[in-house]
Amino acid sequence: MDKVCQAYIPEAYQLRFREIEKPVISPGKVIVKIARIGICGSDIHAFKGKHPLVSFPLIQGHELSGFVVEVGKRVKDYKIGDLVTIEPAIGCGKCSKCQQGLIAQCDQLQFIGGNFPGGGNQYLLIDPDYLVRYGSEVSLDDAAMTEPLAVAIHAVNRVPEIKDQNVFIAGGGTIGLLVAQVCQLQEAKEIIISEKLPFRSQVASILGFQTLFPDDQLENQVKDIMNSAPSVVFECVGMENPLNSCINLVERGGFVIVAGVYEKPPQVDMVFVQDKEINMLGSLMYTFQEFKKAAELIMLKKIILKPLQTTHFPFHQWMEAYKFIEDPNHSFLKVFIDMNEQETC
Ligand SMILES: [Zn+2]
Ligand SMILES: [Zn+2]
Repeated sequence: MDKVCQAYIPEAYQLRFREIEKPVISPGKVIVKIARIGICGSDIHAFKGKHPLVSFPLIQGHELSGFVVEVGKRVKDYKIGDLVTIEPAIGCGKCSKCQQGLIAQCDQLQFIGGNFPGGGNQYLLIDPDYLVRYGSEVSLDDAAMTEPLAVAIHAVNRVPEIKDQNVFIAGGGTIGLLVAQVCQLQEAKEIIISEKLPFRSQVASILGFQTLFPDDQLENQVKDIMNSAPSVVFECVGMENPLNSCINLVERGGFVIVAGVYEKPPQVDMVFVQDKEINMLGSLMYTFQEFKKAAELIMLKKIILKPLQTTHFPFHQWMEAYKFIEDPNHSFLKVFIDMNEQETC
């Protein structure tokens, strides 16, 4: 039996490597060798033991790209060498949510890199229904960003109509900047992003977006620029202050889309939600349709990803990658783990 090296998290703040058995192909499945893993804010929450929905030991990695290395006898649509990304949410397929395509809302949800082994395994035995194939013109980094782009598409799809709406986005991280680009594709009117970090504001302006520093002038500045309050706001930080800014800023009857992941329960001015009749909607993951849409936009080069792809760490420095992200002195957006052909322990 072949052995491969797995990166896993035995307990909070620890990341270790160990040898595991390489998966064995079965007739209806394929084996994907992971080449790139994007690190997500939710990975950091889980690493610190602050994600309510995951427990240890944990094998992370859900923003994935790699190559098909083995194909089961019954699989017709894939061949060895295909560049693919993996849709990490696996529903039961039977419940009413799954039937509507809302896999993320399945009570039996399994998530690759969460409660189900992720990219840290190096080799994943997987049902080809969860794969999306790319041509060789798409980079490994771009392919691994299908997942966060799908998150952004889902957040935007929570709003009935984005065309001609004024949009405010709290947080110019990867998700905020992807949400902004999706809103732009859907012909939003004015788009303003609030961001504290100079590096992220710079990247936002490279992408052509206006950014503001979130101080006590923010709300007036946004309204001045838009000549009105925004009708749609996205909270992409996961903290109390930006969430309350969103609630204060949005016009009466407008939409607040909550896309951030909260480490601490925020105190919210519910009286404004009630008084202004705000439509406050949560947003989690995506449907498979939205995941495929993300892949399509990447293939068509409709989304600018390069300026977001700031940092790479080799597989064996995964822990250093987390330390790098946790250090507030570092400027970065998407951080990747790069995997070689065969990583040994
Ligand atoms: Zn993610
Ligand atoms: Zn289900």
